[in-house]
Amino acid sequence: MTITLTKNERIELSYLLMLGFKWLVRHEIGSVEVYKIKPHRDKEVNYYPFGKDRGGYNTWIETATPLTLEELSRCKNTSYGKYQFIQWKDEPMDIEALLLMSAEPLRIPVRVTSETSHRVVEGTLSPRQLLDLSDDCDIVEHLTACDCAPVGETYVVECNCDEEFYESIVLIGDEIKEKEQQDALNSKPDVTA
Ligand SMILES: [Zn+2]
Repeated sequence: MTITLTKNERIELSYLLMLGFKWLVRHEIGSVEVYKIKPHRDKEVNYYPFGKDRGGYNTWIETATPLTLEELSRCKNTSYGKYQFIQWKDEPMDIEALLLMSAEPLRIPVRVTSETSHRVVEGTLSPRQLLDLSDDCDIVEHLTACDCAPVGETYVVECNCDEEFYESIVLIGDEIKEKEQQDALNSKPDVTA
């Protein structure tokens, strides 16, 4: 089973894990909660004194009802994520494992700057793509490829779009930030104030 957390879910679960919440559940009624201690399913009839004819939903609890205030402090509603991957029928999910499973794939930022037009094209590459693109020229071609249509009945694309990037600067990964920091240091601040 592969679960991909949305950005909101990843942020919210990371924060809740930091606060000590370890288990994610969905109640039969549909709401989603997190628990510090692994909860178990509980029959709605346990909600004495409301009685068996109250009607309602089964739920997750940590211990037998009635719930103590202390136990209530060890569970919390979620607010930002939708968590559509978890249903009532599912067992509590380990939050730390969820976060590890859906870690963001590594993408390497790349920036190509034309020395002719000074146009900047930015993108990201997977480690495999970076390995397959053997030099700066390949990276430029990959990032700045145009989608001009072939002319006439040939399959030859006769545009000059690539000329713009014949002379260009390619920055990969940390080089982008280093260049920005260098530029910031080199720019002479106006000290007339
Ligand atoms: Zn073109």
